[in-house]
Amino acid sequence: MIPLGALPKIDLHLHLDGALRPASVREMALEAGAAWPPGGEERCRVRPDCRSLVDFLATFEFFLPFLSSRQALRRSARELCEDQAADGVIYFEARFAPTLWEQTGLSAEEAVEGALEGLREGTAGTGVHWGLILCGLRNTDPARTMTAVDLARRFRSRGVVGVDIAGDERAPLAPHAPAFREAAKLGIPFTIHAGEAGPAANVREALSLGATRIGHGVHVVEDPEAVAMAKSAGATFEMCLTSNLMTHAVGRIEDHPFPRLLREGHRVTLNTDDPGVQGTTLTQDYELARKVFGLSPADFRETLRHSVDAAWAGEALKRDLRVRIEAAWGGVA
Ligand SMILES: [Zn+2]
Repeated sequence: MIPLGALPKIDLHLHLDGALRPASVREMALEAGAAWPPGGEERCRVRPDCRSLVDFLATFEFFLPFLSSRQALRRSARELCEDQAADGVIYFEARFAPTLWEQTGLSAEEAVEGALEGLREGTAGTGVHWGLILCGLRNTDPARTMTAVDLARRFRSRGVVGVDIAGDERAPLAPHAPAFREAAKLGIPFTIHAGEAGPAANVREALSLGATRIGHGVHVVEDPEAVAMAKSAGATFEMCLTSNLMTHAVGRIEDHPFPRLLREGHRVTLNTDDPGVQGTTLTQDYELARKVFGLSPADFRETLRHSVDAAWAGEALKRDLRVRIEAAWGGVA
């Protein structure tokens, strides 16, 4: 058996607020003088009876109020670096929607600053590399997505690498299109959550807007034209196996399109999504892929090459990541 936990890995689809340690959320709540309910730590995890993406996202509503300070975001980001490094992740891109913090009394700008401070501290302590992606949310005011783009522009030299849109996929993407046109104009790369709970048409829409990466894209396989469009655009799929099972984006892991897309030469990657909420690690997702799809070390190496190619990191760092991946995975039989 290959010790997957010790091998270098990359996570491109990872929500900062979905990656918290429940024990830390509790401590932060108590430090803030908030009432911590019985069973609070369990409520930081997805419920076993989760039936959909909407159920899954409801988990976040429980703990967000306890993360109301810049200090809490800073701690969360620092601990994320520690957890990633401990799992063998050498580069990750964390994302969050900074305007969500406005309801807690923190400005979106302060939220970004808090996250960046924590990530920088995390690198100092662990050596792990990262980029920060700022999200809009489909089911909120499109002006907030524009705010995320504007903050990405302002914090670009300080570690923000791109933008995204997440949230309930039943809400239309079209009202947010101006924000992505603005991002394209500014040269800020973007990914879009599409085809996770929603249909293949959402992937086509995201690609038409110019997304170079697709968050999940599980349902793309239901439309051959959408598959062809993704292929010709060279789009990268940020796939998240455990998350897709928990949100019922796929009914059974055996039905997940990841192995098919990989065999057909698509640029597919393996990521966690929300390791804190899910109670998982990237290593566990790799184990799942090995067990269910029979992924070989060469297959993992291929997906990691896609991850480096799609990473919004500088060329020097990408070269270094490639060397480390080839050196470690190339030696695995
Ligand atoms: Zn996501």
